[in-house]
Amino acid sequence: MSDIVTYAVQGHLGLITLNNPPVNALSVSKGVLQRILDAIKEGEHDPNVRAFLVHGSGRAFSGGADISEFGKPYPVGMATLPALASYMDTVTKPIVAAIHGFALGGGLELALACHFRCAVAGTQLGLPEVKLGILPGAHGTQRLPRVVGAERALDMIASGEPIGADKALELGLIDEIVKGEIAAAGMSFANRMVREGREPRKTSALTVKLDQPATEFFAAARARIAKEYRGYPAPLVIVDCVEAAVTLPFAKGVQKERELFEKLRATTESKALRHLFFAERQVSKIPDVPEETPTREIKSAALIGAGTMGGGIAMNFANAGIPVKVLELSQEALDKGLGVVRKNYAGTVSKGRLSQEEMDKRMAQFKGVTSYDAIKNADIVIEAVFEDMAVKKQVFEKLDKVCKPGAILATNTSTLDVNEIAAVTSRPESVLGLHFFSPANVMKLLEVVRAGKTSKETLATAMKLSKTIKKVGVVAGVCDGFIGNRMLHSYFREAGFLLEEGALPQQVDKVIEDFGFAMGPFRVGDLAGLDVGWLIRKRQAATRPAHLRYSKVADQICEMGRFGQKTGAGWYRYEAGSRTPIPDPKVEALIVSASKQAGIERRAITDREILERCMYALVNTGAEILEEGIALRASDIDIVYIYGYGFPRYRGGPMFYADTVGLDKVYQSVKGFHQAHGEFWTPAPLLERLAREGGRFSG
Ligand code: NAD
Repeated sequence: MSDIVTYAVQGHLGLITLNNPPVNALSVSKGVLQRILDAIKEGEHDPNVRAFLVHGSGRAFSGGADISEFGKPYPVGMATLPALASYMDTVTKPIVAAIHGFALGGGLELALACHFRCAVAGTQLGLPEVKLGILPGAHGTQRLPRVVGAERALDMIASGEPIGADKALELGLIDEIVKGEIAAAGMSFANRMVREGREPRKTSALTVKLDQPATEFFAAARARIAKEYRGYPAPLVIVDCVEAAVTLPFAKGVQKERELFEKLRATTESKALRHLFFAERQVSKIPDVPEETPTREIKSAALIGAGTMGGGIAMNFANAGIPVKVLELSQEALDKGLGVVRKNYAGTVSKGRLSQEEMDKRMAQFKGVTSYDAIKNADIVIEAVFEDMAVKKQVFEKLDKVCKPGAILATNTSTLDVNEIAAVTSRPESVLGLHFFSPANVMKLLEVVRAGKTSKETLATAMKLSKTIKKVGVVAGVCDGFIGNRMLHSYFREAGFLLEEGALPQQVDKVIEDFGFAMGPFRVGDLAGLDVGWLIRKRQAATRPAHLRYSKVADQICEMGRFGQKTGAGWYRYEAGSRTPIPDPKVEALIVSASKQAGIERRAITDREILERCMYALVNTGAEILEEGIALRASDIDIVYIYGYGFPRYRGGPMFYADTVGLDKVYQSVKGFHQAHGEFWTPAPLLERLAREGGRFSG
């Protein structure tokens, strides 16, 4: 512990080295900040020391606060970052920060409290606190505007996006880009400051630059930010802080920053974002598959089927530099599928987000084939053919015959039983589901479906692969719809029932959109196309339990040839070439008549009921999924909904949301719906138990 920060005098410099791997977190309880403070105090009394140099050992200057200390009381008597920064303002010998790798959050705030800053090329500097629903609470909102001006500071703090060293130099955030090993480069910079007789340049004493009248600038900023970050309280509070930097003396601004920091830290939104921060780090951990489980190398891939999903999935491999063969039934289907891929890339090139050269490189990773022999050496094969068990079985039988031993055989099925598919092969240990979401080249979520016989090695390889192809892999067990779609089914069911009982699509959508989803269920349906679900329902009709309530509205919409945006009408109507949904009296008439046919007297439905019926349908089904072990943890379900279904991040995912409402309250509503609407609402035993015990889904 003693060498977590080292201090040494070299020539005229007091050299302070952060040494708290992996990212030099500024941990209060471990004494990192106290040790920096002690070092400075020691050097102040040392006549040999004429300046200080602060730098980080290892891969970076500092990644900022120690997030594990969040929300916990600090040990008494240990220096905190604001206290250290204030002290640095009183020091009469120059303090220089030499930055490499990154200086983020508290790391940058520490650098901002230094009097001079230099960095090596490639360094990233930023204040990402907003992403956790808070603000930089160690003078960042007061010092950064004094260094780079109010406009740039507001951009950086409200977006949380880091900037590179070049940009930092241009803005004056660093004084120089230095070359070579950071300690040596920093020392030579600091020695020059000494030689030139530089006085400490305290950032707190600078005035904030703003080239326009403050009132107008901040009014416009508030309007823009309220729109851009709807639902997130932190960005607007950050505007208040930056305004304080402009209008108040430093000490008062700092006071305001502290008050607002504490206020934000207590918000549900900030708790939700912090929950997701940890959820994202948990999701790749599988209790019975230790991290040292051997994995296989994936150097080549093959896709069976070049349709909507196959092409998109293949793009992920090409983007990651992995050659990918695409197998289709005919050359014609192949040309069509690869044509779509090419068009997709060309679209990105025309938007300036990809160079032509890079596109050519990625297209060169593709090879279209029509024979199984051509894919026999692939390390992984992903099947994305029609959603038909007989077809899938045929494909897997062929794969079993030709693929090399150890190859991973994956299916992208949405609804079929992965165990049944695995059973047609002689190597079910190598089979699993890889459930991508549409559009597969864009959506981050990947459900990694662990079948009964999937080996640990296969699973670990798939989870590692998900990172390589930049997806968020979530382990799911085998059941109808896995995690995401099984829950979605309950959500759509309730949305449909609400129509029959008295609501209209636009009312339901508005409630869900006000909650924070980009689109409500009916707008989503129109965008995705209503025909796919209709086909599935027709297929399931024969086996659907007759005693369960079934709403015919969705089928009747499809019977009218209304399949959504692609046919110009669905739950809404659309003007030619427009994606704006327009409520349609024909749909209202159809819904009213469906209510009559079902013998339901229409009533006024409150927004609150809409929200509870839709959200608690997700939660109750989520609780079943959790109890059955289909999901490993509640936070995995939250990740599925954040990355695959547009659940608002600032609400933390459906299970976390239920925790914030209070599980007893959720359970009481579910019980009420059960009495009113029957079997579908049978409370999940886990929900019932947690409600009784005053528990939560997430630890
Ligand atoms: P699609 O109809 O667009 O594409 C299927 C492709 O497979 C077609 O190009 C077809 O020619 C080809 N194909 C059919 N049989 C084949 C065979 N025996 N050998 C080789 N190629 C064959 O379908 P899609 O939407 O891409 O769906 C594919 C799979 O992905 C389905 O299992 C589906 O459930 C699943 N899925 C779809 C979505 C979605 O949103 N569309 C999302 C997740 C998963």
